[in-house]
Amino acid sequence: INIPTPVNEPVLSYAPGTPERQKLKDALEELKSQQIEVPLIIGGKEVRTGNTAKIACPHDHSIELGQYHKAGPKEVQMAIDAAMAAKPVWESLRWEERSAIFLKAADLLSGPYRFLINAATMLNISKNPFQAEIDSACELIDFLRFNVFFASEIYREQPMYSSKDIWNYVQHRPLEGFVFAVAPFNFTAISGNLPTSPAIMGNTVVWKPASSAVFAPYYFMKLLQEAGLPDGVINFVPGSGSDVGDTILASPDFNGIHFTGSTPVFQSMWKEIGANLAKDHYKTYPRIVGETGGKDFIFAHSSANVAALATAMVRGAFEYQGQKCSAASRTYLPESLKDAVLAEVKNQVSRIKTGDVCDFGNFFNAVIDKGAFKSITEYIDYAKTADDAEIVIGGGYDDSKGWFIEPTLIVTTNPKFKTMEEEIFGPVLTVYCYPDAEYEQTLELCDQTSPFSLTGAVFAQERTAISLALTKLENASGNFYINDKPTGAVVGQQPFGGGRASGTNDKAGSKQNLMRWASVRTIKENF
Ligand code: GLU
Repeated sequence: INIPTPVNEPVLSYAPGTPERQKLKDALEELKSQQIEVPLIIGGKEVRTGNTAKIACPHDHSIELGQYHKAGPKEVQMAIDAAMAAKPVWESLRWEERSAIFLKAADLLSGPYRFLINAATMLNISKNPFQAEIDSACELIDFLRFNVFFASEIYREQPMYSSKDIWNYVQHRPLEGFVFAVAPFNFTAISGNLPTSPAIMGNTVVWKPASSAVFAPYYFMKLLQEAGLPDGVINFVPGSGSDVGDTILASPDFNGIHFTGSTPVFQSMWKEIGANLAKDHYKTYPRIVGETGGKDFIFAHSSANVAALATAMVRGAFEYQGQKCSAASRTYLPESLKDAVLAEVKNQVSRIKTGDVCDFGNFFNAVIDKGAFKSITEYIDYAKTADDAEIVIGGGYDDSKGWFIEPTLIVTTNPKFKTMEEEIFGPVLTVYCYPDAEYEQTLELCDQTSPFSLTGAVFAQERTAISLALTKLENASGNFYINDKPTGAVVGQQPFGGGRASGTNDKAGSKQNLMRWASVRTIKENF
């Protein structure tokens, strides 16, 4: 069937006096006052293991949002069994029936669940309301609606040529085993997309949300059940990476991983999958789809618009405390623009307010947890003592109330300085200034500086400079922005993902991604 291209979900403003602002405030108060106990959901049933951990609030150590139960190997095996048991019924549903569930889920999220999911995101991962609206509600609604649309295009395709006595056609079947969805903490939308996109294609899934972000994903799981998702199609299994991962990867029915998270974790899972394959352990080759780290650049040419460039640096590097794989973390500035750009960045950063997410005036909040706080501040301390770098903005941090780190800007004279090369995943931007005449050589340097290739941006008014950047940085990012920040890809507009150490570039929110969850059968019939 043909369905029209969806329209992106309109973003609510939450401006003072709007009804949505009040509804979100109410949801925040409600979630803070209850002490929820989040169970596993396996085969549609709540499972409590008694092995619990705290649902934390990164900007306020004194707030406890509740507890969640952690899966052990026994419960993970139950989830695998539930996913395999659900397959026959799920596969036998017509595509339109499966899609109806996800379209209804999108409507529920656009309506009554919106404020709950945004509030849970804000409190549990310390994200401001405007970013939560974009990265939780709206982006997840878009993933659901656009994936249904992309699936409709896949199922409609019948491009095979058939001659007079022959009929050729292809069928897009689900995979034979189950899919393992491994989610990051930083985007509720991504966490929700990882299990639902394989499920739209008829697969059943075991979903492990990030341990530091189970709150909003749990409500999304409840929403999917309310939308009519049959038991066992998606199984919600929080737990430690090794407890869950080892049992999953050891299952002969493991047929694919849909992963967003860190490069080392993805690489170690890939190695484990490889070792199992070498032992002929799996019934079929697993699909490996991953989006991992980044060391994303903003590259300015001397013809760049200074104000637009400075805004992109501030928003690209410091929105959500820099905790996006796509965050700008290294900038190349021509010497002629250095003073003007740094002055404008300082001016904008000086206006950033920091603190609790419940005060909507705070643009900047806390980093996710103690581990992140430690590793980010180690980079800052390293820069403080280095001879070839200087901290020109921020550099302070304070963990007394929550995990707060100032937006920090380092200027280095060394293009291979540690913070120019390594992913930090925090609010730290490093700037290297190059002689204006060395634009082309510095583009080459940028391409060779990091193993990652996720996002990048060029700022220039001169078309030849843009053109040169497009060519020289061809393999340096999967998403390339011209005169815009390198974050904030919109589903249906900029399919997202990258190559090299940043992942398999299977573009979240695209037909290509959905094809990874289909097993194509070719049929030829002689008449
Ligand atoms: N898609 C997000 C963006 O464009 C980044 C996702 C991530 O951090 O994994 O900013």
